[in-house]
Parts: sequence; structure tokens; C-alpha cells
Amino acid sequence: ALTIGIVGLPNVGKSTLFNALTRQTILAANYPFATIEPNVGVVNLPDERLDKLAEIFGSAKILPATVSFVDIAGIVKGASEGEGLGNQFLANIREAHAIAQVVRVFEDENVVHVDGKVDPTSDMETINTELILADMQTLENAIPKLEKQVSGKKAEKATLDAYLEAQKVLEDGRTVFSEAKSLDMDQLRGLNLLTAKPQIFVFNADDGVLGSAEKQAELAELVAPADAVFLDAKLEADLVELSAEEAREMLEMNGQDESGLDQLARVGFRTLGLQTYLTAGPKESRAWTINKGDTAPEAAGVIHTDFQRGFIKAEIVSFEDLVAAGSMNDAKSAGKVRLEGKEYIMKDGDVVDFKFNV
Ligand code: GDP
Repeated sequence: ALTIGIVGLPNVGKSTLFNALTRQTILAANYPFATIEPNVGVVNLPDERLDKLAEIFGSAKILPATVSFVDIAGIVKGASEGEGLGNQFLANIREAHAIAQVVRVFEDENVVHVDGKVDPTSDMETINTELILADMQTLENAIPKLEKQVSGKKAEKATLDAYLEAQKVLEDGRTVFSEAKSLDMDQLRGLNLLTAKPQIFVFNADDGVLGSAEKQAELAELVAPADAVFLDAKLEADLVELSAEEAREMLEMNGQDESGLDQLARVGFRTLGLQTYLTAGPKESRAWTINKGDTAPEAAGVIHTDFQRGFIKAEIVSFEDLVAAGSMNDAKSAGKVRLEGKEYIMKDGDVVDFKFNV
């Protein structure tokens, strides 16, 4: 499964946030047979559509899609020049498919800041600098080899050009991800650069920020085009201990309509380039995870490889059409249920029944 690595300076609230995530993992527990590593938190992707489907189909169970987070603890500053721990830290980030950077914006005299003051811009710079330096080393090693290959006609000039462009971006102190639009990302893929990974910034905030749309907009602006999530890690840790109803009340009191963990799950899922399709019946209403652009047989393969191999057709209705019709039969009478073949590209929210040969 695709994972999001959680990184950040010491004392910004990573453990607090991660404990809330793993606590939710245990509560979600849709994985009786899966062994979950201690440094992995698997959280449900909130999806109100499933409640609606369960109502329509009288489903006994609801199974949402999930998002996996990995706690990448360890040193940050000096990692790019470090041996041992520093290398391990960077290697763990390399394995993740996206990075969630926790940034402290809460004020608390009792919590020491490693650099003596709360300064999100400087904190983000510290981490990005390490990632940028690591990528510059990767390119410094790769470019001379590639140059030889290009002159020996064993590699394409276009690849070398892409490497050199990326090097320029890094030398300017920018991440590859922030310049993804102007860089040839396909050519860079093989390098698995750290700064090419999509980033999410998780601002660990207090009421001063959570209550101010203006402050949030300022911080979001700083990290664009990356996504920003604002939460209070301590509050999130408390919320997971409460019943759903109590949690809702507590959020309301704080002027929020969704928990920070739910927000993080939604943003994370999108950042990974994933989407869901839905299945529904008396047994369960369920969201299945696929990549954007997957075809109907590929989507069927997520349920079972036999479904992909023996794929004949997919009976599909959009969630909105199904709800508007009120039932599957009514959707059929209204002509809203389509039969799609092997070439069909799945859309988020397709409600699907696969027809296949075994
Ligand atoms: P880590 O080193 O990044 O893993 O940080 P921790 O999660 O261990 O948090 C460091 C300290 O900050 C702990 O004492 C936490 O209780 C506290 N802390 C974490 N999040 C918040 C927060 O949102 N507000 C306040 N006031 N304190 C927090």
C-alpha cells in the first residue's frame, strides 16, 4: 500500500499526532488478518457516501478505504551529511510515497523549541534543506554516469536535461515537487528524489491559528502548491478517546466540523493520487482504493485477481444518480445504469457490480 511518511523537528507534536493516528487504527480494526507495524497508522478515509449506500442496500457493514501513515522518527538536522542514523532517516523517507511535515505553530512556554522560538518558516526550511542536500548528492552521483551513457548512446539526452534542470531547482533552494509543473517528472522518476515526493504540511496549531482564517491563509500560501492541514495534535489525541457523538460535540465547541485526523486522511489520500469506487449489497457497503486513471478490469483486480482475469463487464451507476433514483431498480428504470467494458476509465464515486467468468 502507498504510505505517507510523517516527519518534523523534535518537539513539534509528531508523537502526539502519531499516537492519535495509531489509536484510531486500533479502533478502526478492519484488518483482523493484517499485521500492522508499530510505526504504521492505518486510518479510515471518511466517506459519508457509504452511510447512504448502507441505507439504500440495507448493508450490515460499512468498510471505508484507508490511508497509511508511517512515523519517520529520527534526526533531521545534518541528516544529509550524517552517516548511520542520518542515512536511515533519509532511507525511511525514500520509501514513503508522500511526506507529511508536522510544523509547530502552537505557543506553549512549557514545550521547548529546538531553536528557541516558534518559527514555522525557519522550521520548514531546516527540513527542506536536508532533503534538498540529499537530492543534490543523488544528482551529483547520477549526472556524470548519465553523461557517459548519453555520449555512448546508451541513454537519452532528454533524461540528462531533466536531471540538470532539477539540479538548478535544488541549487536555488527549491524542492522538485514545488516545480513539478516545469520539470520533466517522468524522466526523474527513476531517481526517487526525496523532494519530488508530494508534501503535505500539518500545522500543529492552537486556538490562535485554528480560530483565524487569515493566519491559516498566510501559512497555506507559504507552502502552496502543497496542501496545508491545520489541527491541534493534543485535541486530536483527546478526540480519539471519545465516542463519535462526544467527539462531534467537542469539535463543535472548537468551531470545527471535521477532526484534524479526518482532514489529514482526506488530503493524504488525494495527495497520493488515489481515488475510490464503491460496491454495495446487503452484506456490506465498501470503498475500494484505485489509482486515478485505472480501467474497469484494473479496478476489479483490487477485489480479486480472478475478477480482473475473467472480467466481462462492469455495471456502473454514479453515486449521485443512484441516490437521486432512490434504489438500484429505480436507477435502472431511469436508464442511469451503464454497462462498461475493458477500456472504461473509472470515476470516483462509481457504484459498481462486476460481471466476470471464473
Ligand atoms: P515530537 O518530538 O515531535 O514527537 O513531539 P511530541 O508529540 O512528543 O510533543 C512534544 C511536547 O509538545 C509534548 O509535551 C506534547 O504534549 C506537546 N504538544 C504536542 N502537541 C501540542 C499542541 O498541539 N499544543 C500544545 N500546547 N502542546 C503540544
